[in-house]
Amino acid sequence: MITIAVPVEGDRGEKRVALSPETAKKFTALGAKVRVQAGAGAGANFSDADFKQAGAKVEKGTAVTLKGADIVLTVRRPAASALKGAAKGAILACILDPFSDTGGLSALTKAGLTLFSMELMPRITRAQSMDVLSSQANLAGYKAVIDAAAHFGRALPMMMTAAGTIPAARVFIMGVGVAGLQAIATAKRLGGVVTATDVRPSTKEQVESLAAKFVAVEDEEFKEAETSAGYAKEMSAAYKKKQAKLIAEHVQSQDIIITTALIPGRPAPELISKAMVESMKPGSVIVDLAAERGGNCAVTKADEIVLHKGVSVMGNTNLAGELANNSSSLYARNLFAFIDLMIDKEKKGELAIDWEDDVIKGTLVARGGKLVHPMLTAKTGKGEKK
Ligand code: NAD
Repeated sequence: MITIAVPVEGDRGEKRVALSPETAKKFTALGAKVRVQAGAGAGANFSDADFKQAGAKVEKGTAVTLKGADIVLTVRRPAASALKGAAKGAILACILDPFSDTGGLSALTKAGLTLFSMELMPRITRAQSMDVLSSQANLAGYKAVIDAAAHFGRALPMMMTAAGTIPAARVFIMGVGVAGLQAIATAKRLGGVVTATDVRPSTKEQVESLAAKFVAVEDEEFKEAETSAGYAKEMSAAYKKKQAKLIAEHVQSQDIIITTALIPGRPAPELISKAMVESMKPGSVIVDLAAERGGNCAVTKADEIVLHKGVSVMGNTNLAGELANNSSSLYARNLFAFIDLMIDKEKKGELAIDWEDDVIKGTLVARGGKLVHPMLTAKTGKGEKK
């Protein structure tokens, strides 16, 4: 019978947790033993009692929680030293962030852990229920608008009162992926006048279907600017120049801007220059969802609110984590759907991993002391040696 362990997150600022009472119950029903460290769900408002009731064993301290565990689930990448005591070759599934802190990744690899990076989940229909980027970005898009509205010193909807009319706020969403679409929908619900831009042509229809206005240079290059995986491509210098001019004019009249533009594997593109920030009215608010990857705005500082010439630029890098109850519930479901694939349905509670499955292959980063993911081995030329 396998044991699944969920320790308290190493990063104390992280409120999310990788298990919910709902998924604890589901894992138990599959025949697995579930151990959760006392207090692990506190930031997400899941109590130890909730976990106990769901069939999990609540343990005090990381060492007892992890002792002999076959699978360790976390939100962020833990340090190798924190996982001592887990079974040899134990599975670690988390948002591994495999392209940063290569030393930390190498220590986990050398410890012989089987590492799965949830954010490398292939974007195929079958894996939608396991897609952590989508489940978290959706909440981040919502929270970005809520934070902007709370910080903005004016109302969002138009209000006609006996004392006069308050105009609706103008909200501009830059980057219409999962986060951007939710930001558009949220800003519309709050009564803003919403516009949006993206370099992928398929987003135009999506923006319009949410009753927002699409703003972009729609030339020949724009028509081709999408990879087969549905991601944005790096645009040419000429396109960027034309688009920047159009956007610079538009930005001047906006009250709130939410930026979400990312290109996988690259630093975030700069879409709002310092001069563009300075062209906005004092009191305007920018929320930069790309802050963790360098930011879409020249003024952004990760995890700070910068006040630049009267414009607030907010760079919270973990907005989904601010809605820890929802984001943990969805993340835990993503993990359950993923781990469920690995559990033998005949011999209840045993592992049966199909290493050739696209979902397993796509997310497997290290096994048997070696890095195995092509995106990482291509970088180093070979797998890591023990
Ligand atoms: P993302 O987080 O990689 O990027 C956010 C948005 O920024 C994207 O829409 C991108 O086109 C845009 N962008 C990049 N550079 C830009 C620039 N210079 N100017 C303006 N916008 C720019 O994107 P995402 O949220 O991960 O979504 C990417 C696509 O994948 C979407 O079409 C989404 O619907 C799709 N998706 C598919 C699945 C699935 O099939 N399983 C799951 C989730 C998302």
